[in-house]
Formats: sequence, structure tokens, C-alpha cells
Amino acid sequence: MNIGIVGLGLIGGSLGLDLRALGHQVLGVSRQERTCQVAIDRGVVDDASVNLTLLAAADVVFICTPIGQIASMVQQLIPHLSPNAILTDVGSVKTPVVEAVTPLWLNFVGGHPMAGREYSGIEAAVSGLFAGNPYVLTPIETTPPEAVKVVEQIVRSLTSNVYFCHPADHDQAVAWISHLPVMVSASLIHACGSETDPVVLELLQQLASSGFRDTSRVGGGNPELGVMMARYNREFLWRSLLNYRQSLDQLIELIDQENWKGLEQRLQETQAQRSQFHLKADD
Ligand code: NAP
Repeated sequence: MNIGIVGLGLIGGSLGLDLRALGHQVLGVSRQERTCQVAIDRGVVDDASVNLTLLAAADVVFICTPIGQIASMVQQLIPHLSPNAILTDVGSVKTPVVEAVTPLWLNFVGGHPMAGREYSGIEAAVSGLFAGNPYVLTPIETTPPEAVKVVEQIVRSLTSNVYFCHPADHDQAVAWISHLPVMVSASLIHACGSETDPVVLELLQQLASSGFRDTSRVGGGNPELGVMMARYNREFLWRSLLNYRQSLDQLIELIDQENWKGLEQRLQETQAQRSQFHLKADD
């Protein structure tokens, strides 16, 4: 199959490596000449260009640009596409993308590979990034079933675990398990850093170890990604933050009232609840 990729960064580049290894002809388009050259040199693509005309021969195109550029990229791409081409994207939030792109190109299937690394750009692309990780597809009522089938087959060939859901359900779920943790972790770092006693502040910074490392990791990441989550998944993230604040208030109240029995009960509940999340053994 001829597969196009627009945006040769971490996700687009990693897709290219895997799809080429599976025997597809991969054509890449990116914004910078240098990125295209690195992609060719690294064997991420068979050919690459800054010019969208390269994708005229593509059967399927993955849009892998930052979320804010997905719809405008599709608009620019349409004049170059063959009429039966299937489009899909990899954006981490689905409702705004699906709502903006579906009216432009019916043969569009929203997608979100739930795999990543802390690095970005073509240099960060790696083989096997998607293997064993969830890949969510979000077709809606008007999405042609044939297009869904083709995208599903490609995604399954990456040995991803494929899930189907409505874009809004996806966005609500990722608000809880991906976007809320970033905000919670950021406020944890901020709260610890606001210690006013300089001796204690220095001491806590020196003593911080595995517990703080685990809970501060996502809040200490790329600020641009955090803003992107809040901006494009604003409503669901806002709602989950309010729920979280309520849960935190309950803990404050239990401690304020020295209700140790109540606190133990809550922690027993959360201990049991954690096992219901499908975390990998090393999570
Ligand atoms: P990235 O490493 O920064 O790659 C994005 C690439 O898009 C850049 O290398 C850039 O190419 C290209 N680009 C930017 N603007 C462009 C434009 N106007 N036209 C053409 N190319 C453009 O980012 P990423 O992490 O791969 O994220 C890409 C998408 O994947 C986003 O929509 C994100 O939501 C989604 N996603 C990310 C993760 C993650 O963990 N990072 C996980 C799942 C999904 P140049 O180098 O040529 O400028």
C-alpha cells in the first residue's frame, strides 16, 4: 500500500519506520527540508518532501502534525489527494479534530495511538513504539465502514491493541487518565516548591526520591503539551479537575477531623480501585 505521513516527528517518524518494515511504500511530507532529509537518511520514509504533491499517489494518509495544525493541513492536502484516499490522524484529542475534518473529507477516521516518549522531532522516532499499546479509533455515524476497516487493519499490523469509541468518550477518558494527572502532578511540584522556609525547601529538594519522582514526572514535562491538553480538551479537563478538587477536599476534611478510620477506608478503596486499571506490570 502507498501510505502518506504528514508531520515527520516522533509519532509520524515512528509510524514510518514500522510501516516500511511491514513492506508499505511510505511517502512523507514535513515542514522543514532538513526533517525530510533526516527521515530519508534514517530510513523512515521511501521519499519525503516539503511539498504535498508527493501524496497524490497515497492510498492512506496519516496526519501527524501538532493538533492545532491538523484541520488546516487537511485543507491544504485535499487538492492533491486521489478521490478515494483515506485520511486518519494521530491527535491526542479527538472531538475538535473529528468535527473540523469530517466536513472537509468524508473518508476520514480519527485515531489516537496511546504511545509516546519524552522526546520530540524526527530524531526521537523509534521502531516498535506502538506495539502492545492502545490505539483508539473514533469513527462516527457518517464514517464509511470501508475506511474504518482499512485503518483498523494497518493499526492492527503495528500490533497495537485497537479500541473503538466515540470522540467525546475518548476525550473524557483521556481527560481523567492523561490530562488530569499532568495538572495534578504540576500542582504537586508547585505546592512543594512554595515552601517558604529556605532550610526546609533545600532539605525537601535533597530528600526527594522515588515517590516524588513517580508523582512529579508528568507535571515536570513539556509545558507546550500541557497547554495543548487544556486548550483542546478544556471542558472535560475542567470537569475532571473539579471532581479531583472535591476528592482532595474530602481528604482534607478527614484529616482535619482526625477521622483515621474514614481515611483508612478511603485508602483501602483506592488501593482496590487501582487494580481495575489495566496498567502494565512495570507501571
Ligand atoms: P513532534 O515530534 O513535534 O512532531 C510533529 C512534527 O510535525 C514536527 O516534526 C514538524 O515537522 C511537523 N509539523 C509541525 N507543523 C507542521 C506543519 N504546519 N506542516 C507540516 N509539518 C508540520 O510531535 P509528536 O509528538 O509526533 O506529535 C504529533 C501528533 O501526535 C500530535 O497531534 C499529538 O497530539 C499526537 N500524539 C503525540 C503523542 C506523544 O506522546 N508525543 C502521543 C500520541 C499522539 P518539522 O520537523 O518538519 O518542522
